[in-house]
Amino acid sequence: MSSPDNQKVPYQANDNPPAWWRDAIDAMEWVPTKSEDVVLWYQKEGPCPRCHDENGVRVSLEAEGWVGLGPQEDTDIFVSCECTGDHAPRPDGALEGCGWGGYVAGPVSKGSN
Ligand SMILES: [Zn+2]
Ligand SMILES: [Zn+2]
Repeated sequence: MSSPDNQKVPYQANDNPPAWWRDAIDAMEWVPTKSEDVVLWYQKEGPCPRCHDENGVRVSLEAEGWVGLGPQEDTDIFVSCECTGDHAPRPDGALEGCGWGGYVAGPVSKGSN
């Protein structure tokens, strides 16, 4: 598998990408930001596994979760490519990304406990 990093892929709407896409994002570390040992939020950053654009994956997640929904960090998180690469033809209203997005493991479900 040797595809050049700058090979451009067309925009393709896909909210159920294959396992290799999710696995590559799961392999990126959730980085916690702490204040006095309390995790405030987690961030995950890296290249989109599909289009290889460096800024494709940019997720931040509040550690406390959303009110009424329980802690988010132990559930799957929807992540979509938010790159600024050139993926034609992008539909009206889609300003960024190559169109792929799917659920990846949250910070807790990924860890060992
Ligand atoms: Zn891209
Ligand atoms: Zn992408």
